[in-house]
Amino acid sequence: MIYKSTRNPDNIVTASQAILEGLASDGGLYVPTEIKPISLDWNELKEFSYQEMAQFVLKEFLGDFTQEQIQSCVQGAYNDGFDHENIAPLKDADGHYYLELFHGETIAFKDMALSILPYLMTTANEINHNEKDIVILTATSGDTGKAAMAGFADVPGTEIIVFYPNGGVSSIQERQMLTQEGQNTHVFAVNGNFDDAQKKVKDLFNDQAFNEELASKNKQFSSANSMNIGRLVPQVVYYFFAYAQLIKRGEIKPNEKIDFSVPTGNFGNILAGYYAKQLGLPIGKLICASNDNNVLSDFFESGNYNTNREFILTISPSMDILISSNFERLLYHALNDDTNALVTMMDDLKDKGSYQVTEDTLANFSDFLADYATEKETLSEINAVYQSSDYVIDPHTAVASKVARKLSSQRENPLVIVSTASPYKFPEAVLNGLNIDTDSMDDDALLNNLREFTDIDFPPAINKINENPADERTIIPIEEMKDAIRRIIAE
Ligand SMILES: *Cc1c(COP(=O)(O)O)cnc(C)c1O
Repeated sequence: MIYKSTRNPDNIVTASQAILEGLASDGGLYVPTEIKPISLDWNELKEFSYQEMAQFVLKEFLGDFTQEQIQSCVQGAYNDGFDHENIAPLKDADGHYYLELFHGETIAFKDMALSILPYLMTTANEINHNEKDIVILTATSGDTGKAAMAGFADVPGTEIIVFYPNGGVSSIQERQMLTQEGQNTHVFAVNGNFDDAQKKVKDLFNDQAFNEELASKNKQFSSANSMNIGRLVPQVVYYFFAYAQLIKRGEIKPNEKIDFSVPTGNFGNILAGYYAKQLGLPIGKLICASNDNNVLSDFFESGNYNTNREFILTISPSMDILISSNFERLLYHALNDDTNALVTMMDDLKDKGSYQVTEDTLANFSDFLADYATEKETLSEINAVYQSSDYVIDPHTAVASKVARKLSSQRENPLVIVSTASPYKFPEAVLNGLNIDTDSMDDDALLNNLREFTDIDFPPAINKINENPADERTIIPIEEMKDAIRRIIAE
């Protein structure tokens, strides 16, 4: 498989080059030039471990990696750094299945890809005989930052710099980032929201003079955001793995369709589900679930992508995004690879904050259903699932769960809800959902109270934030991000 930029069809690269670059230099995102259905023998696939499934799926996407290279990346990533032997277990609750993607080191689904990305990047460096050090720039709505720092900590030849919105992440998320160890990890709170930080990171990627300055120091930028194909591709794996597990357990028959409900922010997770479907996985509907920042559900209804609205800080902060980067990829596919039409829309988005697609184009999004859950609905969903099944879900998962419930009359297949974070990462919101007054509780009290509701012990990630010393929070204005990076690369 090879890749091309959404904004220039002549900009064609191999998988390893796309991973090293992160973003295309023309401002576009790399997409597979073509994805064809592969043959799927479920009798064999249903016995696959997560690691075997990862090798099976990744070889489709990583055209210029050898089998041995893929295998060694997979082994480095998916091992006892996860606190569950299945890596991505499926839990039965409330009449459907929750695919738990939070058993990695930072207890959010970002670990599924960020535990392997450093291996993919260093291998891509070898394949391309690249001698430059890689400087990873990452804007985070809370979870990518920690997972990227954990993945890249002390990886030779890499420097990792993370920017998160000051006041826009949960207290546990912030403490996780500030307690990260590693000589090469750097984290800043910026005065702005996630969209501001993500936009600035994109601008710096495309800042030619800055790139040259870096090159003169024998360094180059790359991205650990889901704009990097190396983040997206490992996420395709768990869609296949979930399906195989359902067959193994006798819940579905081979080739029976299932639906997935995905709590969506930057549109990376659900896009991986779309690529899984393109590869031939029998998916019925992909449910795009948003919180009060409901740009996407409005788009699916009207064909109008409109960011001219208030940016709302919610109890599902990792989905507080108005400009979903990966949506550009889906839009490009829906436009049948019409680069000019895409560029016009992306210019409209930049200049007017909105763009409109035609009725015909909108019809090309029929793999998806979409809706959103309000704050109140999210809280009551946490309670509803707990009452029905004694199962505690985090607020992001609750958004997906609620939206699937809202859309139940429009779908018929067995349902998997993609569970993206451990409830321990958002204890305050979860306890509020369970009708507990948390006003007087500090982090420790929140965690201990939540412990009473779950039948699982604190994951290692929670013990770590108590053991490791926390750095001071460093707050900078968005305009100073460039200088902050300069100081780090000068060291
Ligand atoms: C990042 C994140 C999301 C959103 O995923 P996207 O790939 O950005 O759509 C949802 N839930 C949690 C917990 C996350 O960390």
